[in-house]
Amino acid sequence: MHDTTLALPARPRAPLRARVRAWLIGLSMLCCSHADASDPVAASVDFARAARPASALLIQLIDACEPWLRDLPPLQRDALYLQATLQTALGAPLDAERSWERLYAQAARGGDQRTQLAALHAQGELHTLDGSYRELHALGVRMLGLAEQANAPAYTAIAYNLLGTAARRHGRLVEAADYHQRALTLRRKLDDRAGEAESLANLGTTRRDQGMFVRALALQHDALQIRLRQPDRAHLDIAYRNLALLYRELADTDQARLHFQKALEAARMRPIPASLASVLGSYAVFLNDIGEYAEARLHASQALSMDQSLGNRAYVALDRLQLGRALNGLGRHAEAIPPLQAALQAGRETAQTEVIAGALLTLARTDLAGNAVQVANTRVEEAINLLDDARMMPLLTDAWHLREHITTRLGDQAGALHALRKYTQLREDLVGTRSAQRIAALKSLYQRQHYDERIELLTRDNAENLARARQHRRTRDLVIALALSLIALLAVIWNRYRATYRLNRELAHKHREVESARHALEEVNGTLREQSRKLYRLATRDPLTGVCNRRHMLQKLERHIGRGRDVSVLLIDFDHFKQINDRLGHLFGDQVLCTGTHSVLEHLGPGQLIGRFGGEEFLVALFDLSADESARIAETLRQHMTRAMAQINPEAQNPITVSIGIATLSECEPRTLKALLGAADQAMYQAKAHGRNRIFRQQSI
Ligand code: GH3
Ligand code: MG
Ligand code: MG
Repeated sequence: MHDTTLALPARPRAPLRARVRAWLIGLSMLCCSHADASDPVAASVDFARAARPASALLIQLIDACEPWLRDLPPLQRDALYLQATLQTALGAPLDAERSWERLYAQAARGGDQRTQLAALHAQGELHTLDGSYRELHALGVRMLGLAEQANAPAYTAIAYNLLGTAARRHGRLVEAADYHQRALTLRRKLDDRAGEAESLANLGTTRRDQGMFVRALALQHDALQIRLRQPDRAHLDIAYRNLALLYRELADTDQARLHFQKALEAARMRPIPASLASVLGSYAVFLNDIGEYAEARLHASQALSMDQSLGNRAYVALDRLQLGRALNGLGRHAEAIPPLQAALQAGRETAQTEVIAGALLTLARTDLAGNAVQVANTRVEEAINLLDDARMMPLLTDAWHLREHITTRLGDQAGALHALRKYTQLREDLVGTRSAQRIAALKSLYQRQHYDERIELLTRDNAENLARARQHRRTRDLVIALALSLIALLAVIWNRYRATYRLNRELAHKHREVESARHALEEVNGTLREQSRKLYRLATRDPLTGVCNRRHMLQKLERHIGRGRDVSVLLIDFDHFKQINDRLGHLFGDQVLCTGTHSVLEHLGPGQLIGRFGGEEFLVALFDLSADESARIAETLRQHMTRAMAQINPEAQNPITVSIGIATLSECEPRTLKALLGAADQAMYQAKAHGRNRIFRQQSI
């Protein structure tokens, strides 16, 4: 029977080993470069063969280095690990076992429990391969203790696995199922998917052996699903093979063939010699069952050469049996005997009931072909006893069928009838059981598919709902974030608004203060302006008549003369003013002065000026006019004044008059204000002297 576990032990550490291994693989590739890559079966066998010399060399090298390595425990551990791995891979189980044992002891001395566990794991694989199931059990117990002590649950699961395999091989199926179930639970807890698939497969194989085909089918399908989802697709071939073997048990030839072919395809995609050999061997069993002997022979031969090169004793026995069955089926009875006898011997050594019984029955058929009916009978009897004990119904049915044939040939009618009855009974049971199992299996498969579809649908629905919920959540979060941002923004704006409002109020207040200050200032300015105007007026005007005062008048004249303008001045003096004052009073005198000057003002042109010179004397300035023109204006002014003053004069018999002296700058020497005024003064006196009430022009120079 084929195993479902074919893994190499886990490596404790890598660096040196990785380098040496790379070197070894390179060397091996060189050795087997002649191998035909188009045939992976041949290539992997050749590879193992070709790697052998290189590996042997390396093993010897490590042996030679031993004294030197002894002082370097970590390196020695690596070297021993490599040596043991090579010996395991190259089918030197005894050497390998010794090396693993040495590695175990060395690791135990160094307190390296992980390496100890790895060594035990490797030894467990070796025991599984060579069918030493008693040793396998003992080792499993040891490993379980150590793994629990080292708190290494992954190794605890491996230990359960080894114990389960040992129990199954010894036919303790309930115990085996329990161990595999424990390993499965642990690996699920460790989230070790590959380990979970392995345990599911082992449990499935145990359930198959227990006749629980429906359960077995479900378990193997679960294992396949995990393997299909694994990125490296490791052990996919074994998963398909396990299903194929189940369908074989259910006599569903089509499904069995389909799954064997898928297993082969997967094995060839990823050729691991041990897996490929096991698939080929199992396929050969099936092909022999359905009578396709030529194909069976081909596959059995390939499996045999691979298993031999791998040193897999248990499988070599099975492969030999299948080769014998195929040859016998092809009618090559003589050729069939050596492999069958070798299978029988190996089967006895490894206590494999299926192999022993299978070999005995096929040998019996060759005996019958050679007419050794009695010998055949003995073999079949032995087989029936063995199969009866092991309750291996399909083979037992086969055996009773052969027994009926033999007893008939021997002429034992009663024996033949008994055998026929047994055979018919078993066959009916088997057919009935198989039919019931197939119906149940089909039903379970249908339900599985239905549930798978529902689960997929629900998963998809769930995923959509989840995505929708996530979208909603995201939208809600976004809205909340937006609302919060908005609130924050509003708070900021409100604050700003409040601050601005406060500031504005303060500003308005300040503004009002500034305004009132400005107002006050303006008022002050107005007052100042008024005062300065008054002051200016006071400084420049004659308070009685309002015309320019003497100082201001003279400043203006000075400025005009400074600019080079020609100017004529009329010096006006009121005649006999002292007498007017004396007769009519000073106030009337003031009124006369005002009326006289105002009538001058009324008749002055633009740019022409009048100012008080002093007492009852006034100056009129005319610009850029000839002396004649000035004299004419002076005469006009005199007449105006006389007329105006006559209006207010109460004494008609004493008219009020003025005398005017005229001088022009261009006719003075020097042309200064002083000379001009002097000339005007002289002219005015001349007018007085000539009888008053008249004008008089300066004398020409
Ligand atoms: P004459 O014709 O020669 O110029 O004789 P007059 O009397 O006008 O000349 P006088 O120089 O002797 O007298 C001037 C008088 O004018 C003396 C003064 O009292 C008077 N007077 C000067 N200023 C004012 C004034 O502002 N108001 C009044 N009512 N009289 C003034
Ligand atoms: Mg005078
Ligand atoms: Mg006078």
